[in-house]
Amino acid sequence: MQMDNISSQRLKGRVALVTGGGSGIGRAAAIAYAREGAAVVVAGRRQREIDETIAMITATGVEATAVVADVANSDEVKALVQAAVDRFGRLDAAFNNAGIEGKMAPITEQSEADFNDVVGINLRGVWLDMKYEIEAMIALGNGGSIVNTSSFVARAGQAGASIYAASKGGLEGMIRALAVEVGPKQIRVNNVLPGAIKTPMFDRLGGEAATSTVVKFTPLGRLGEPADVGDVAVWLSPDEARFVTGQSLLVDGGIAIPGIR
Ligand code: NAD
Repeated sequence: MQMDNISSQRLKGRVALVTGGGSGIGRAAAIAYAREGAAVVVAGRRQREIDETIAMITATGVEATAVVADVANSDEVKALVQAAVDRFGRLDAAFNNAGIEGKMAPITEQSEADFNDVVGINLRGVWLDMKYEIEAMIALGNGGSIVNTSSFVARAGQAGASIYAASKGGLEGMIRALAVEVGPKQIRVNNVLPGAIKTPMFDRLGGEAATSTVVKFTPLGRLGEPADVGDVAVWLSPDEARFVTGQSLLVDGGIAIPGIR
């Protein structure tokens, strides 16, 4: 993971929280927030993985803390946000990125339990994250930036992904409502929609075998790297993006552009 990119320390003195920060896009974003000078709260389900991310950040002299939290559990999400505020006294940016692909299968082979698992993490979990983050940001009075991880699959039809697509697509309406609701508090809410990104999730969904097809349909001609998405989540956080809210931004190398390939 690169730590030597040019940094302008645009988030010095700020505090960022990242869920799903023990791997893939979340880890890349946590490192990118730290590169910009923010203290980082890294949340995930597994202590060992989030500790590895923390070690990468603290090695550069930036403060970071790990919190084990399952985003499907409201008590744990509430405690996560409280832990961030207790530790650093602020909450300026949140990247609600934790998610699962769930069971990718024809609808006739999916169960209600499959639906509840995926929606419980990808949609309800992000709603819980935002509920407690917004509560804290309003109380702290500094405004803030929230970015959620949706997916290009919310826009581009993919067989087998009916539950996943619904869970990610739901985030688009959710942030439009919230952008209007919390804009007057100077809290901005946006989504990133990654394309096919080289992460453990991509490996579970086909990895090597799927790569050539994905690359063929991606105008920029390659798989995404976790930092391609993490950097955009971080770009949406500081003052450069101060007038951007309610937006769902594809970060996908163009794969979801409709057309003839
Ligand atoms: P990943 O599997 O490495 O990351 C997902 C992270 O979320 C893991 O660290 C996992 O432990 C964590 N997580 C899952 N359920 C959780 C829960 N209940 N509570 C807390 N943490 C939980 O894969 P990734 O590709 O880095 O995924 C990050 C996000 O990007 C996900 O929301 C995913 O849906 C989205 N996404 C990925 C791709 C891709 O091609 N990799 C494409 C579009 C969207």
